[in-house]
Amino acid sequence: MNHILIVEDEEHLANGLKLNLEAEGFVVEVEENGQVALNRLTAASSEFDVVLLDVMLPGLDGFEVVRHLREARQFVPVMLLTARAHTDDILRGFEAGADDYLPKPFDLSILLARLSGLLRRRMWLRESGDADGEDEFDEFHFADKRIDFCRQVLYWDGGEQPLTLMEATLLRYLVRHAGSTVSRKALLEKVWGVREDTDTRTVDNFVARLRRYIEAEAARPRHLLTVRGVGYRFVAELDTQG
Ligand code: CA
Repeated sequence: MNHILIVEDEEHLANGLKLNLEAEGFVVEVEENGQVALNRLTAASSEFDVVLLDVMLPGLDGFEVVRHLREARQFVPVMLLTARAHTDDILRGFEAGADDYLPKPFDLSILLARLSGLLRRRMWLRESGDADGEDEFDEFHFADKRIDFCRQVLYWDGGEQPLTLMEATLLRYLVRHAGSTVSRKALLEKVWGVREDTDTRTVDNFVARLRRYIEAEAARPRHLLTVRGVGYRFVAELDTQG
Protein backbone atom coordinates (compact mmCIF):
# COMPACT_ATOMS: atom_id res chain seq x y z
CA MET A 1 0.00 0.00 0.00
CA ASN A 2 1.46 3.31 -1.06
CA HIS A 3 1.60 6.18 1.37
CA ILE A 4 1.17 9.65 -0.13
CA LEU A 5 1.70 13.07 1.39
CA ILE A 6 -0.26 15.85 -0.31
CA VAL A 7 1.15 19.30 0.42
CA GLU A 8 -1.50 21.73 -0.73
CA ASP A 9 -3.06 24.76 0.95
CA GLU A 10 -6.23 24.93 -1.15
CA GLU A 11 -8.42 22.96 1.18
CA HIS A 12 -11.09 21.82 -1.27
CA LEU A 13 -8.46 20.66 -3.77
CA ALA A 14 -6.46 18.83 -1.10
CA ASN A 15 -9.54 17.11 0.30
CA GLY A 16 -10.85 16.16 -3.14
CA LEU A 17 -7.49 14.65 -4.03
CA LYS A 18 -7.33 12.81 -0.73
CA LEU A 19 -10.75 11.21 -1.23
CA ASN A 20 -10.00 10.23 -4.81
CA LEU A 21 -6.60 8.76 -4.00
CA GLU A 22 -7.98 6.89 -1.00
CA ALA A 23 -10.61 5.43 -3.32
CA GLU A 24 -7.71 4.15 -5.44
CA GLY A 25 -6.20 2.38 -2.42
CA PHE A 26 -3.58 4.91 -1.37
CA VAL A 27 -3.01 5.91 2.24
CA VAL A 28 -3.14 9.71 2.13
CA GLU A 29 -2.17 12.49 4.49
CA VAL A 30 -2.40 16.23 3.89
CA GLU A 31 -0.27 19.16 5.03
CA GLU A 32 -0.97 22.74 4.02
CA ASN A 33 2.25 24.41 5.17
CA GLY A 34 5.56 23.91 3.35
CA GLN A 35 7.71 24.11 6.48
CA VAL A 36 5.53 21.66 8.40
CA ALA A 37 5.61 19.25 5.45
CA LEU A 38 9.40 19.51 5.24
CA ASN A 39 9.70 18.76 8.96
CA ARG A 40 7.52 15.67 8.58
CA LEU A 41 9.38 14.41 5.52
CA THR A 42 12.81 14.82 7.10
CA ALA A 43 11.77 13.14 10.35
CA ALA A 44 13.43 9.75 10.84
CA SER A 45 10.01 8.12 11.05
CA SER A 46 8.88 9.42 7.63
CA GLU A 47 7.48 6.57 5.55
CA PHE A 48 5.95 8.29 2.54
CA ASP A 49 6.37 6.63 -0.86
CA VAL A 50 5.59 9.73 -2.86
CA VAL A 51 4.87 13.43 -2.29
CA LEU A 52 2.43 15.61 -4.24
CA LEU A 53 3.81 19.09 -3.66
CA ASP A 54 2.11 22.33 -4.63
CA VAL A 55 4.41 25.21 -5.61
CA MET A 56 2.56 28.10 -3.95
CA LEU A 57 2.42 27.32 -0.23
CA PRO A 58 2.53 29.16 3.08
CA GLY A 59 5.70 28.63 5.10
CA LEU A 60 8.08 27.48 2.36
CA ASP A 61 7.21 27.26 -1.32
CA GLY A 62 7.38 23.95 -3.15
CA PHE A 63 10.76 24.65 -4.74
CA GLU A 64 12.27 25.34 -1.33
CA VAL A 65 10.69 22.26 0.23
CA VAL A 66 12.13 19.91 -2.40
CA ARG A 67 15.51 21.64 -2.35
CA HIS A 68 15.78 21.29 1.45
CA LEU A 69 14.60 17.68 1.20
CA ARG A 70 17.40 16.79 -1.19
CA GLU A 71 19.94 18.69 0.90
CA ALA A 72 18.81 16.59 3.85
CA ARG A 73 19.39 13.49 1.67
CA GLN A 74 15.72 12.62 1.62
CA PHE A 75 15.05 11.17 -1.82
CA VAL A 76 11.35 10.33 -1.68
CA PRO A 77 9.85 10.84 -5.18
CA VAL A 78 8.29 14.30 -5.48
CA MET A 79 5.69 15.39 -8.01
CA LEU A 80 5.38 19.16 -8.19
CA LEU A 81 1.95 20.66 -8.84
CA THR A 82 2.62 23.79 -10.89
CA ALA A 83 -0.03 26.47 -11.29
CA ARG A 84 0.84 27.00 -14.94
CA ALA A 85 2.80 24.85 -17.34
CA HIS A 86 5.45 27.53 -17.44
CA THR A 87 8.72 26.14 -18.66
CA ASP A 88 10.58 28.15 -16.04
CA ASP A 89 8.58 26.57 -13.21
CA ILE A 90 9.17 23.10 -14.62
CA LEU A 91 12.89 23.66 -15.03
CA ARG A 92 13.14 25.26 -11.62
CA GLY A 93 11.35 22.29 -10.10
CA PHE A 94 13.65 19.75 -11.71
CA GLU A 95 16.66 21.85 -10.74
CA ALA A 96 15.51 21.85 -7.12
CA GLY A 97 15.26 18.07 -7.20
CA ALA A 98 11.64 17.29 -8.13
CA ASP A 99 11.07 14.05 -10.06
CA ASP A 100 8.00 15.02 -12.04
CA TYR A 101 5.51 17.85 -12.41
CA LEU A 102 1.84 18.24 -13.21
CA PRO A 103 0.30 21.53 -14.34
CA LYS A 104 -2.92 22.51 -12.54
CA PRO A 105 -5.73 21.97 -13.25
CA PHE A 106 -5.38 18.28 -14.09
CA ASP A 107 -7.63 15.26 -14.58
CA LEU A 108 -7.54 12.59 -11.92
CA SER A 109 -6.77 9.96 -14.58
CA ILE A 110 -3.65 11.88 -15.63
CA LEU A 111 -2.53 12.24 -12.02
CA LEU A 112 -3.00 8.51 -11.42
CA ALA A 113 -1.06 7.62 -14.56
CA ARG A 114 1.82 9.90 -13.59
CA LEU A 115 1.81 8.65 -9.98
CA SER A 116 1.99 5.05 -11.08
CA GLY A 117 4.79 6.03 -13.47
CA LEU A 118 6.77 7.48 -10.55
CA LEU A 119 6.12 4.48 -8.32
CA ARG A 120 6.98 2.07 -11.15
CA ARG A 121 10.29 3.81 -11.81
CA ARG A 122 11.07 3.55 -8.12
CA MET A 123 10.24 -0.18 -8.13
CA TRP A 124 12.25 -0.64 -11.29
CA LEU A 125 15.28 0.81 -9.54
CA ARG A 126 14.67 -1.02 -6.29
CA GLU A 127 13.94 -4.48 -7.66
CA SER A 128 16.86 -6.73 -6.90
CA GLY A 129 17.06 -8.74 -10.06
CA ASP A 130 14.29 -9.89 -12.37
CA ALA A 131 12.62 -13.29 -12.75
CA ASP A 132 15.82 -15.19 -13.55
CA GLY A 133 17.57 -13.59 -10.60
CA GLU A 134 20.08 -11.65 -12.64
CA ASP A 135 20.03 -8.03 -13.53
CA GLU A 136 23.38 -6.76 -14.67
CA PHE A 137 22.16 -3.21 -14.08
CA ASP A 138 21.57 -3.41 -10.34
CA GLU A 139 25.15 -2.24 -10.15
CA PHE A 140 27.42 -0.76 -12.73
CA HIS A 141 31.15 -0.15 -12.57
CA PHE A 142 33.05 2.24 -14.76
CA ALA A 143 36.37 4.04 -14.30
CA ASP A 144 36.76 4.42 -10.51
CA LYS A 145 33.00 4.69 -9.93
CA ARG A 146 30.32 2.26 -8.87
CA ILE A 147 26.61 2.97 -9.27
CA ASP A 148 24.21 1.11 -7.01
CA PHE A 149 20.85 1.55 -8.73
CA CYS A 150 18.88 -0.09 -5.91
CA ARG A 151 20.21 2.28 -3.30
CA GLN A 152 20.40 5.20 -5.75
CA VAL A 153 23.97 5.98 -4.75
CA LEU A 154 27.11 6.64 -6.77
CA TYR A 155 30.29 5.50 -4.99
CA TRP A 156 33.93 6.24 -5.62
CA ASP A 157 37.08 5.80 -3.62
CA GLY A 158 36.52 7.84 -0.49
CA GLY A 159 33.18 9.32 -1.46
CA GLU A 160 29.57 8.84 -2.38
CA GLN A 161 26.75 10.83 -3.92
CA PRO A 162 23.10 9.92 -3.38
CA LEU A 163 21.06 10.28 -6.57
CA THR A 164 17.49 11.45 -6.94
CA LEU A 165 15.05 9.09 -8.61
CA MET A 166 15.33 11.01 -11.87
CA GLU A 167 19.12 11.20 -11.74
CA ALA A 168 19.34 7.46 -11.14
CA THR A 169 16.74 6.67 -13.81
CA LEU A 170 18.50 8.86 -16.37
CA LEU A 171 21.89 7.38 -15.56
CA ARG A 172 20.51 3.87 -15.77
CA TYR A 173 18.94 4.58 -19.15
CA LEU A 174 22.23 5.99 -20.47
CA VAL A 175 24.18 3.02 -19.08
CA ARG A 176 21.74 0.56 -20.65
CA HIS A 177 22.32 2.28 -23.98
CA ALA A 178 26.07 2.73 -23.50
CA GLY A 179 27.86 3.36 -26.78
CA SER A 180 24.68 4.54 -28.53
CA THR A 181 23.62 8.12 -29.10
CA VAL A 182 20.27 8.90 -27.50
CA SER A 183 18.34 12.01 -28.47
CA ARG A 184 17.09 14.58 -25.96
CA LYS A 185 13.55 13.92 -27.14
CA ALA A 186 13.92 10.16 -26.57
CA LEU A 187 15.29 10.84 -23.08
CA LEU A 188 12.35 13.09 -22.23
CA GLU A 189 9.93 10.40 -23.39
CA LYS A 190 11.63 7.33 -21.96
CA VAL A 191 13.05 8.73 -18.74
CA TRP A 192 10.65 11.52 -17.79
CA GLY A 193 7.60 10.09 -19.53
CA VAL A 194 6.98 13.51 -21.06
CA ARG A 195 5.17 13.35 -24.36
CA GLU A 196 4.27 16.95 -25.03
CA ASP A 197 6.74 19.41 -26.48
CA THR A 198 8.70 20.28 -23.39
CA ASP A 199 11.85 22.30 -23.40
CA THR A 200 14.77 19.89 -23.71
CA ARG A 201 16.83 22.10 -21.38
CA THR A 202 15.47 19.84 -18.64
CA VAL A 203 17.60 17.05 -20.07
CA ASP A 204 20.63 19.31 -20.44
CA ASN A 205 20.36 20.44 -16.81
CA PHE A 206 20.30 16.86 -15.57
CA VAL A 207 23.21 15.89 -17.77
CA ALA A 208 25.19 18.83 -16.40
CA ARG A 209 24.42 17.62 -12.89
CA LEU A 210 25.39 14.01 -13.63
CA ARG A 211 28.66 15.22 -15.13
CA ARG A 212 29.54 16.94 -11.88
CA TYR A 213 29.16 13.56 -10.17
CA ILE A 214 30.79 11.21 -12.68
CA GLU A 215 33.38 13.19 -14.60
CA ALA A 216 36.86 14.10 -13.39
CA GLU A 217 36.36 17.45 -15.14
CA ALA A 218 32.70 18.31 -15.72
CA ALA A 219 33.64 20.86 -18.40
CA ARG A 220 35.59 18.21 -20.32
CA PRO A 221 33.38 15.12 -20.15
CA ARG A 222 34.84 11.79 -21.18
CA HIS A 223 32.00 9.46 -20.20
CA LEU A 224 28.83 11.44 -20.81
CA LEU A 225 29.45 12.93 -24.23
CA THR A 226 27.47 15.55 -26.11
CA VAL A 227 26.54 14.55 -29.64
CA ARG A 228 26.06 17.90 -31.26
CA GLY A 229 22.55 18.60 -32.54
CA VAL A 230 21.28 15.18 -31.40
CA GLY A 231 21.74 14.30 -27.76
CA TYR A 232 24.10 12.33 -25.57
CA ARG A 233 26.18 9.18 -25.51
CA PHE A 234 27.51 7.37 -22.47
CA VAL A 235 30.80 5.54 -22.78
CA ALA A 236 32.10 3.44 -19.92
CA GLU A 237 35.59 2.84 -21.28
CA LEU A 238 37.73 5.89 -21.86
CA ASP A 239 38.84 6.37 -25.42
CA THR A 240 42.63 6.16 -25.12
CA GLN A 241 43.08 7.61 -28.60
CA GLY A 242 41.79 10.88 -27.13
CA1 CA B 1 -1.23 26.65 -3.22
